[in-house]
Amino acid sequence: MKTNAETEWGIHWFRRDLRVPGNEGLKINWKRNRGRTLGIFCFDSTFLSRSDFSHNRFGFFIKTLKALKSDLVEQGGDLLVIDCQPSQAFPQLLNFFKNHLTSPSLITWNRDYEPYAIQRDIQIERILADFNIEVLNCRDHLLFEPTEVLKSEKPGDFYQVYSPYARKWFDKLNGSVGEARLKSQTNVRDYYLKKNRRQDLFKMTWKTFTKKSSFPFKDSLEDFELKNQKKVTIPLPEAGFFKAFEMLEGFKAKLLNYKDQRNYPSIQATSRFSIYLKNGSLTVPQIISALGLEKIDWKEKSGPAHFVKELAWREFYYSILYHCPRVETKSFLEHYENIAWENNEDFFQHWINGTTGFPIVDAGMRELAQTGWMHNRVRMIVASFLTKDLLIDWRWGENYFMKALLDGDLAPNNGGWQWAASTGCDPQPYFRIFNPWLQSIKFDPDGIYIKKYIKELKNIPAKDLHDPDGDRSKFGYPSPIVHHSVQRDKALRLYKR
Ligand SMILES: Cc1cc2nc3c(=O)[nH]c(=O)nc-3n(C[C@H](O)[C@H](O)[C@H](O)COP(=O)(O)OP(=O)(O)OC[C@H]3O[C@@H](n4cnc5c(N)ncnc54)[C@H](O)[C@@H]3O)c2cc1C
Repeated sequence: MKTNAETEWGIHWFRRDLRVPGNEGLKINWKRNRGRTLGIFCFDSTFLSRSDFSHNRFGFFIKTLKALKSDLVEQGGDLLVIDCQPSQAFPQLLNFFKNHLTSPSLITWNRDYEPYAIQRDIQIERILADFNIEVLNCRDHLLFEPTEVLKSEKPGDFYQVYSPYARKWFDKLNGSVGEARLKSQTNVRDYYLKKNRRQDLFKMTWKTFTKKSSFPFKDSLEDFELKNQKKVTIPLPEAGFFKAFEMLEGFKAKLLNYKDQRNYPSIQATSRFSIYLKNGSLTVPQIISALGLEKIDWKEKSGPAHFVKELAWREFYYSILYHCPRVETKSFLEHYENIAWENNEDFFQHWINGTTGFPIVDAGMRELAQTGWMHNRVRMIVASFLTKDLLIDWRWGENYFMKALLDGDLAPNNGGWQWAASTGCDPQPYFRIFNPWLQSIKFDPDGIYIKKYIKELKNIPAKDLHDPDGDRSKFGYPSPIVHHSVQRDKALRLYKR
């Protein structure tokens, strides 16, 4: 095959950017190659064998890949999903192309900020350099990358406290760079409305190659789906860009009340975007642009401003993980690395099963097991309870959350756990220990949330739900496994030591 502008083609390697519209790397590839861009996804065995691997989250991931593939195919494009890690997949593919005199001229991907992914990408760039193929990697997943929101010009001078980080982040949002990034997402709504869709937006499919007997791979998406399907234990939500954007449209009406209602788990006041953000079916710039929040000021106290501040928390935790990758396994505050956690396995099992005898904690853990999601306020309560009432290492909880949450995402999960355990950057101070009884009376006074997930308590008067000495055993519900005030004192001693 000749290589000239008419026949040049490219590969876009999808990872955490599982959508077509507003996909920065894909866009560049598509433009340069005039629609002759093929998508690829590699199932990386390193991820599939992690201790926090989850069939439920993987099931949702597969659904997201399917949605992406069908969107690409509808517009003349294609996605090849291969069962091979990228460091082996790329050399095999590129040797095949070389042998058929049709190497791609450009390979694109969007940057990922997790420590493992950074190392993997460095390795792949080295491999691709041997094939003399141009590689471009782009910002896409975040509005501002960890290297862009710094305390000073000095590389690596990162913020360790959220407020100054967010102030800088908001300044950038309101500046020319933020404006340009949001502007590049304005036509995403047209895409959602399926305006200007063309069956020949993409001009190439993998069939060009897969029909050749020497092609090294087959598409493994269906195999993975079939194998995993049987192990999924919860109903999985709809996946992909179109569902995410539909939710974005629906969330507009909730924005004004977001600040006042977001802490009440019985009210559906939050966006539920986290599972779509995780896989890049949606991004922070798309959310801000679609909701018209580009001119929000840091000092505003409104619902919309508060919502954007939460999005900034997400990027803050990405920045921490990027600049301080040791937090993946160690406390950010090194002096808390050697806390003598009691790590009682029996208590841990009660926590997982939602049988601690603390209704707000158990409701949260049951919500998580039944749906793969948990309200943020309740995440804070159960995390505080595990670390400061049960005196169990935050890493145990973090690992279980990664398995159970559909939105399980290293940076915000690690950040959330280390915040609750007071070991992280800008954490809850160790002496401010949530009282689960007061939390439940404050945030679920009528017990609506608790009763939804703890069916055996559905006929109990609300006041008895929040009383540490209330007798709930007659309803078949366990007595508290610990006394909060006793455990609180123990926790204070542990941290002080
Ligand atoms: C112990 C613990 C573990 C957590 N684990 C995860 C996780 O694995 N994945 C995850 O995405 N979030 C995690 N969070 C953060 C937060 O609970 C979820 O992002 C939020 O509940 C998702 O619901 P939502 O999309 O309706 O949020 P909304 O309230 O609608 O907020 C919008 C978006 O802002 C971001 N956001 C909101 N709150 C936070 C926060 N506290 N920290 C970081 N980002 C935030 C999320 O991306 C969220 O989707 C964790 C929090 C705690 C305390």
